[in-house]
Amino acid sequence: MAENSNELTRPKNYMEDVVFKHLDSIIASTDCCRCQRCRMDIAAYALNQLPNKYVVTRKGEVYSKMLELQQQFEADVIIAIVKAIEVVKKNPRHDDEVLVEKNESKSEQVQ
Ligand SMILES: [Zn+2]
Repeated sequence: MAENSNELTRPKNYMEDVVFKHLDSIIASTDCCRCQRCRMDIAAYALNQLPNKYVVTRKGEVYSKMLELQQQFEADVIIAIVKAIEVVKKNPRHDDEVLVEKNESKSEQVQ
């Protein structure tokens, strides 16, 4: 059997990568809760505001096109995350579950 190295991945929403690239640093610059539930809620809320950008790539391919996409949408992504943080801060849903750590290491380096 001729194994083809051009195997394609399933389409994935590239916006997810851009959101997660910025998520933690933006959360860290705010006093928003950092628990996993809030992080994921922020990511989901931000992604719902952004257009989907589904891409198909070859396995192991270096995404040069994606860098272009990233620069194109970076500002929108940052705005969407900041907005999402505001929403989640007002309505945190981590109370639904056992809360492990909240406001534990609140750093205030930014400002
Ligand atoms: Zn939380």
